[in-house]
Amino acid sequence: MSTIVAISTAPGVGGIGIIRMSGDECFEILDKIFVPKNKTKIESYRIKYGKIIDTEKNEEIDEVLVSYFVSPKSYTTENMCEINSHGGIIVMNKILNECLKNGATLAEPGEFTKRAFLNGRIDLSQAEAVIDVINAKSNIEAKASMKQLSGSLSQKINTIKKKLIDIMVDIEASIDYPEYDVEEVTNEKAIKSIDEVLKDLKKLEDSFEDGKIIKEGIKTAIIGTPNAGKSSLLNTILDEDRAIVTEIEGTTRDTIEEFVTIKGIPLKLIDTAGIRQAKDEVEKIGIEKSKEHIKNSDLIIAIFDTTKELKQEDIEILEMIKDRNAIIVLNKEDLNNNVLENKSEIINTNKKVIKISALKKTGIEDLYEEISKLFNINKLQLEDGQFITNVRHKNSIKNSIKKLEKSKKTILDNMPIDIISIDIKDALEELGKITGDSVSEDIIKEIFKKFCLGK
Ligand code: GDP
Repeated sequence: MSTIVAISTAPGVGGIGIIRMSGDECFEILDKIFVPKNKTKIESYRIKYGKIIDTEKNEEIDEVLVSYFVSPKSYTTENMCEINSHGGIIVMNKILNECLKNGATLAEPGEFTKRAFLNGRIDLSQAEAVIDVINAKSNIEAKASMKQLSGSLSQKINTIKKKLIDIMVDIEASIDYPEYDVEEVTNEKAIKSIDEVLKDLKKLEDSFEDGKIIKEGIKTAIIGTPNAGKSSLLNTILDEDRAIVTEIEGTTRDTIEEFVTIKGIPLKLIDTAGIRQAKDEVEKIGIEKSKEHIKNSDLIIAIFDTTKELKQEDIEILEMIKDRNAIIVLNKEDLNNNVLENKSEIINTNKKVIKISALKKTGIEDLYEEISKLFNINKLQLEDGQFITNVRHKNSIKNSIKKLEKSKKTILDNMPIDIISIDIKDALEELGKITGDSVSEDIIKEIFKKFCLGK
């Protein structure tokens, strides 16, 4: 394979920068630009100290450490090296240029990982996990991604695939050697095995609900009439010492979205524009958008000013959350004028009611605890859980289930046994899309496009 090179560390200035190279000519190119102090032969997993040279001007560019990875024991399985230079933009670019001038080509985003996949060291679901580990916004997401990277999902899918292949073998045998078998026996056995596989697949499919929360956070809309304390609550949550706040693209002027992890709970918070009578067209659009967000959220925190009687808009909010995953928050408890506590309109919603003061930061812990309970956060942190966090994987599983259900129906309808194997083959192919053994070039391209340079 051609030799590729890229700066692997994040753009900008840092203590150390890493330039990574992989391919057949990796060590030859390095030989031209690197003068090691110790001229002993190259060994895998060794680091050499030396200087990178500008080969045209014959002057030193930087003092570096180079680590060697001899094929096949490297990230890509090819010969690889990593040049640890000083983390200056000029220096790193000069080293990169030297590699390019001497025969390497610039790597595309994710090309190192793509090679690891194409060379068979990892499968596609593991390659996708690499980007998930890098992009993880919470501990549980990082943990789930690491698990997928180590091959837990691949193993599960491969076990299921093996079961399907066994069913196919049985069916094919009964077609080839009908004298050894009675069709009913094969059918009965096949249905039993298909049911087992369906159970495994449905469990995986169901795990996507949790997987989505792990990856995207609990989409939480804070709603309430003006001055109920929405912004104050949002700020109190975001002010948490241990909160990790991540910017989310696409934030509009009408709503603020923040990703935050508190006490292990990943939350995607949406502070919606107040629910009220629109005074003008712009505000009206804002309110419509809020309602849309409310519809799409996993959790609604409905906040009320507990010192004020319920208004018509508050009643509308209570109506809106009736059939939703929601928590009612009575704010401003510090003012000791709790007029909403025993209101039948609130009690009748059967939602958990929590008293807080967004200003004095009291009651917030109870709110977190309730969210944690509602979404069973403890379960998500368990070691043995396998979650589907990727929509692509979920769709393949869903399609595979459809095919298997069809094959089961074919058996029950007493159709010829060879027709059944067509659907099972299709189901297998769908699962192969997850691990990458039956996936189109276009999909592979799409997946690796999302990677960073140098990974
Ligand atoms: P929003 O319009 O719903 O976003 O409400 P804000 O968060 O802007 O709060 C409206 C007003 O209520 C502000 O003056 C806040 O300082 C005040 N406020 C918010 N929460 C509390 C609270 O817990 N106690 C008291 N006493 N005042 C609060």
